[in-house]
Amino acid sequence: MVQRKGKGSRGKDPQRTQELKNRIGRILSELEKIHPDARLELEYSNAFELLIEAILAAQESDKKVNELAKTLFKKYRTPEDVLSVPLEELEKDISSVNFYRRKAKLLKNCCQGLVEMFGGEVPKSVDEMVKLPGVGRKTANMVIGGAYGLPAIIVDRHVMRVSQRIGLTDQKDPDKIEFQLMEIIPSEQRTKFSFLLLNHGKSICTARDPKCQECPICDICDSCKIKL
Ligand code: SF4
Repeated sequence: MVQRKGKGSRGKDPQRTQELKNRIGRILSELEKIHPDARLELEYSNAFELLIEAILAAQESDKKVNELAKTLFKKYRTPEDVLSVPLEELEKDISSVNFYRRKAKLLKNCCQGLVEMFGGEVPKSVDEMVKLPGVGRKTANMVIGGAYGLPAIIVDRHVMRVSQRIGLTDQKDPDKIEFQLMEIIPSEQRTKFSFLLLNHGKSICTARDPKCQECPICDICDSCKIKL
C-alpha cells in the first residue's frame, strides 16, 4: 500500500495521485457489478423538481420526500408557482417533512433567484446554480448529474464516508473532497462514480457497520476490516 502523506499534501504527490487514478477503474467496474442500477433515490421528472426535492431532503428521508412529491408537483410546476402562494400556504403544503418552516423560506428564496437570475430555468452549471440562495455544491451537483446527466461529483455523507475509507481523499470538508476527487476521476465517469458510492454507502459501506466481507473492493480499500 502506498503511504499517505499529510493532510492536503496530495497535490504535491504525483505518485500518490497516479496510484489513486489507477484504482478508480477497478472501483467503478467492481461496484457496477453489485449496484447495476445505481442512481439517486429521489424521484423526479425534471431539474426543477430535483432541485426542490434536494432542498426538502435535508435531514429528511428520500422516501418521505418522494411521498410528498407525488402531490406537491401537481400544484407547483414552476418557480413562479412557488412564488405565487403565501408563505403559510407553502409551509402547510410541505409540512410532512422536517424543518418545513425553514425549508419553505428556502424554497421561496431559491425560486426568487431562479426567476430573477435565470428566467425561471434551472441553470446547467454548478457555478451558476450555487448563486441561488440556499443552494450549495452538493445540491448543485446532484441536479447537474441527476437531472441533466452532466459530470458531477456529489459529495453527500455517503460519498464522503466511502471516499475517505477507501483512501481516495484525505480531506474532511465536502468541497475540498469534491475538488480532490476531480483530480483523479475523469469527467465522464464522475456522475456514475457518485451514484455508485452513494448506493455502496447506503447498502454495504454503512456508517456504523461496513460489511467488508461482502465488499468487492476490499483489496484496494485502505480501511478494509478483513485485511487490517
Ligand atoms: S472494504 Fe469495507 S471500508 Fe472499504 S469500501 Fe468496502 S465496505 Fe467500505
